[in-house]
Amino acid sequence: MAENITLEVVTPEQIVVSEDAQIVVAPGTLGEFGVLIGHTPFLTTLKTGTIHYKDANGRERFLFVSGGFAEALPDKVTILAESAERRQDIDAGRAKAALERAQNRLEKEEDVDFVRAKAALERALHRLKLIETRQ
Ligand code: ATP
Repeated sequence: MAENITLEVVTPEQIVVSEDAQIVVAPGTLGEFGVLIGHTPFLTTLKTGTIHYKDANGRERFLFVSGGFAEALPDKVTILAESAERRQDIDAGRAKAALERAQNRLEKEEDVDFVRAKAALERALHRLKLIETRQ
């Protein structure tokens, strides 16, 4: 069996993941990328979306991620994100409330920070999609 890589996902608040993985797939700004052991080193910014990886036992794991960077080294992937949480830690009610707030701002408020509201909407939609579509 091929060797594993180390995956670390860190936010300003906590270490969300620190474990071995067989493969890591993450949403880079220029497109989704996958990393296996021995990958050429690279650095990229991240989009809001889903990181998925296979843990050392081959189980698929999913995480929400928003903002930040990924660094791939031949034996390690480090994700420094503004926010990230494991699928099972996503609070559906909170994401629905965030979605509603963002929709109201975009629809009704005149003096709205459009970019900020749009980004909040996108985070909420990605969180909800992750918990609804990948059970
Ligand atoms: P909210 O308006 O509900 O705070 P947000 O999209 O603005 O949503 P973020 O700025 O992405 O929130 O995240 C702030 C912190 O709250 C992070 O630690 C993130 O992991 C956590 N968080 C945000 N929304 C959820 C959620 N629905 N379930 C679990 N954790 C969440």
